[in-house]
Amino acid sequence: MHKRLKMFGIDFDALTMPEAVAKVLLWSEEPDYRCRYLVTPNVDHVVKFQTDQALRAAYRDAAMVTVDGKPVLWASRLLGKSLPGLVAGSDFCPALFDAAKTKPGLRVFLLGAAEGVAVRAAETISRRWPWVTVVGCYSPPMGFNAQSAENRQVLDMINQAKPDVLLIGLGAPKQEIWVHAMQDQLQVKAALCIGATIDFLAGEKMRAPKFLRTLGLEWLHRMLSEPKRLAGRYWHDAKVFPRLVLREFINKTPT
Ligand code: UDP
Repeated sequence: MHKRLKMFGIDFDALTMPEAVAKVLLWSEEPDYRCRYLVTPNVDHVVKFQTDQALRAAYRDAAMVTVDGKPVLWASRLLGKSLPGLVAGSDFCPALFDAAKTKPGLRVFLLGAAEGVAVRAAETISRRWPWVTVVGCYSPPMGFNAQSAENRQVLDMINQAKPDVLLIGLGAPKQEIWVHAMQDQLQVKAALCIGATIDFLAGEKMRAPKFLRTLGLEWLHRMLSEPKRLAGRYWHDAKVFPRLVLREFINKTPT
């Protein structure tokens, strides 16, 4: 049994990427459709978590919580609660598809990204991981959520396709709040809140080069790619996150 480590009010699962992938594959083999979901907090999510009650509730019911982004990993080390490594959505999906080679026929549904992007991501998956079966994909209009008029149709679309794994790329906190609200109505075995991963799979957005990721500067690359959307957010996060780390450090309790 792995440990759960509390930081910033969030219970993180101390899992490596292979361990997290193995867990999702196990869920996908269960006979019944019980929607367990994964969330992957990065700095921005940690900051939003402090004030967003719906996001807090979604995190509370998540089956797996893993760390996304080097700054959160570094904070865990500084706080003496070392998490074993990053398990970000954008790395998790390729790792899951690679591992599914030993269990061919994994059924996947893609929900999210701008119109047409999920279809292109589905093409990439079928080409690169032919043992994975994409059973459906849909990019809802911007602003889609659990209250949207088309929510029922989206649920029906997913449930009729009977995926093992649902990839949800609606951005945070929307994707986490949506899956939490729909958990009991979704007939999927695992749901993964994976942000911009559908864009990355489709080639719609480019991931940061490896050396920037190694340096923990993936956020800088994302900000420079979408400055209008992200600069304000990252500026706010840059002011709040160090204060959260400091507060946590001062109140540090042994794990
Ligand atoms: N997105 C969506 N519907 C929305 C808002 C966003 O499908 O109402 C998609 C958007 O097209 C992109 C992803 O959500 O594919 C945003 O992912 P990102 O990780 O950038 O999320 P954020 O950092 O904004 O939470």
